[in-house]
Amino acid sequence: MQIVRNPTRAVRIGNVTIGDGHPIAVQSMTATATRDVAATAEQVNALAAAGADVVRIAVDSTADAAALGEIRQQTGANLSVDLQENYRLVEQVAPHVDKVRYNPGHLYHHERQKPWQDKVKLIADLAGQHGCAIRVGVNCGSVDPAKAAKYGHGDSITPMVESAVEHCEQLDRLGFTQYCVSLKDSDPTKVIEVNRRFAAERPDVPLHLGVTEAGLPPDGIIKTRIALEQLISRGVGDTIRVSLTVPNHRKPEEIAAGRKILEDIAAGRVRSVVDYGLSTLNIISCPSCSRVENEAFVELAEQVKELTRYAADHRLTIAVMGCRVNGPGETDDADLGLWCGPKQVNFKRGPQLLGAFGYDEILPRLKHELDLLIAKQAQ
Ligand code: SF4
Repeated sequence: MQIVRNPTRAVRIGNVTIGDGHPIAVQSMTATATRDVAATAEQVNALAAAGADVVRIAVDSTADAAALGEIRQQTGANLSVDLQENYRLVEQVAPHVDKVRYNPGHLYHHERQKPWQDKVKLIADLAGQHGCAIRVGVNCGSVDPAKAAKYGHGDSITPMVESAVEHCEQLDRLGFTQYCVSLKDSDPTKVIEVNRRFAAERPDVPLHLGVTEAGLPPDGIIKTRIALEQLISRGVGDTIRVSLTVPNHRKPEEIAAGRKILEDIAAGRVRSVVDYGLSTLNIISCPSCSRVENEAFVELAEQVKELTRYAADHRLTIAVMGCRVNGPGETDDADLGLWCGPKQVNFKRGPQLLGAFGYDEILPRLKHELDLLIAKQAQ
């Protein structure tokens, strides 16, 4: 499936470029103590070996910053540094990394009297001198306090968007263009909304997508998948991270999960109904999981694709889902929805249930309903 991507500008991170139609980069982050040079370098290299385009390392002290210089000697990976609360550490770390991430909400913690604009200038100057990209990383749990106070508890989205846009404008004024933005929340629906709103305001800025604190697999992967499906299918997103709660030796699973999600979205194997914004037939089928009760599901999904080729030029969505747990809800937005049970396939048109049919009966029934929809479109 050819997904039309947003026209973002190109941003180089070491030997990887994001934005401007480049492949969506997959990132991860170390979970070792940064001061433990051997363990962190080992994890960076394990993530790079698993296919990480960029590996992020958190730096929270001068000891961490010193360790980063040594870690750099032990890896060729593209490194991003996460400046936590002490933005001044950028002076020590910028020479060793390809990207610097700062959180606008954290710029208030040190030197409270100093305007945040001056702090951003220092970060941008150092990043510029050392050829680093910047990520403005806005997080739901640490939004700029002035913005959060302006909107109160009822609206967590607007302060995040405003804060990100404000920092983009500041970097623009400084003439620094090699930046991207992330807007993360632990709730996938908020991740979708906040990123859509930001992308509508600044379609030129590359977006780093992710669900923060997504949790243990498989739930953490599913939450991230829900958000990424809705955003990437509509051209939003230039790099991703799947944040998983796994032991250190399993961190490379974040990369495998990210690549699988991207592959699945490109192939239309999606868990929720997505609109690719195309004016052609949209056939989606879930990626399947342990809940599938009849292995015939995969074959059925292929048969649906084959059977409906004749309708390729019609703007309709058919969803084929693997189970009775999530199938009913996840087909709600499709024109025709199928979900599999042990012996029968459930079928609906829009929200209306049409019945349950045997695996050998469902295809003619589907074709009949599809023909009716096509006839209706022609009226
Ligand atoms: S629809 Fe059911 S089988 Fe398919 S991925 Fe979702 S939970 Fe798994």
